[in-house]
Amino acid sequence: MFNNFREKLAGYKESLASKLQEKLSKNCQTGNIADIGNPDISATTTEKTLETGLTQLSEISSHEVQSSEKRSTDTDNDLKQKSKFSLLDKAKLLVFEQEVFLDEKDLEEPLWQLEMALLESDVALPVAEEIVSSIKSDLVGSKKKIGSNTADLAERSLKKALIELLSENYLDFDDYIRDVTRPIKILFVGVNGTGKTTSIAKVAKYLQDRNYSVVLAAGDTFRAGAIEQLEVHGKKLGLKVIKHKTGSDPAAVVFDAIEYAKAHNKDIVLADTAGRLHTNINLMDQMKKIVRVTRPDLLIFVDEAIAGNDAVERARLFNESVPIGGSILTKTDADAKGGSAISISYVTGKPILFLGVGQMYSDLVKFEPRWLVDRLLGETASA
Ligand code: GDP
Repeated sequence: MFNNFREKLAGYKESLASKLQEKLSKNCQTGNIADIGNPDISATTTEKTLETGLTQLSEISSHEVQSSEKRSTDTDNDLKQKSKFSLLDKAKLLVFEQEVFLDEKDLEEPLWQLEMALLESDVALPVAEEIVSSIKSDLVGSKKKIGSNTADLAERSLKKALIELLSENYLDFDDYIRDVTRPIKILFVGVNGTGKTTSIAKVAKYLQDRNYSVVLAAGDTFRAGAIEQLEVHGKKLGLKVIKHKTGSDPAAVVFDAIEYAKAHNKDIVLADTAGRLHTNINLMDQMKKIVRVTRPDLLIFVDEAIAGNDAVERARLFNESVPIGGSILTKTDADAKGGSAISISYVTGKPILFLGVGQMYSDLVKFEPRWLVDRLLGETASA
């Protein structure tokens, strides 16, 4: 999952790390890391910091020498070697515990590298720009603590930006289901082959596991075999499937399923619809009719993560014609790039609700920004 994404980030991380190293080594020559390039820090302050640093170093040095002198077995040469090494170690510690001040120019190259990596990972352009600008405002002009690993700062700042971005339109599906008047009507839309029917079955199982009663509506009356496909899932899950003949009016099927749910006190109707492209005017008009007649509480757009920018663009266009309430991205388990998962919510202004991570009913993950970012970055950086 997302292997390519992590590989692409190497340039950004290396570039920021080498910029930090450059600043650290400059600091060793001239003063405190935090003061390099900072116009607000006066020369006197810098001198003072340097003085303190040197005093600390000489204290360490004399301590090392004193303790070494006590050891009568040490030869003169051993003693010099030891104090030299431990002095170097302590100096390293001092340097790494300090802070660095970054200006806009320092970040030019690393952020350019990052933007390229994001675009090559299929992150939509406005989303890549938003991430870059968020990292820029996080890092520029403020002092940043440098840990023992300079690559950490690059990863930490990216993690923070991604979590912020992905949290923007967040909707907790469980809270939503708990609060809406019964029966809740959920319509699934998207193109064929992306995993729409499988996702309906997965969501049905997810809801059953939480003690909700579910009815399925076989609203894809267009594609031969679609009704049977939903019936197979219904049988496996022990669910009632409301169906009409192939070629019949899908709005009528969904309407009947809602009536059934009302009559039998069912909590939720999950309705399939025929796969369609936003460019197919007839099918899009039909979709508008289904929405007009059945007034769904939630329209879920389903697409596959592996489609990258295409999935994001389809979501945007669908949302323009029939406003969606959220998305499910399927086949995330097979997606190396991660761009669609990063972009789809920002571009549509609607949350990701679930991620499909395999072909089993249980391979459905309720969307949580941190879960996704941990997988994108490899669970290493703490924000
Ligand atoms: P539909 O035409 O959009 O209804 O697509 P289907 O539900 O029939 O799914 C198409 C194929 O994608 C099937 O083989 C599914 O098993 C597979 N699929 C669906 N979701 C996922 C997923 O999250 N991961 C993987 N690896 N395969 C999936």
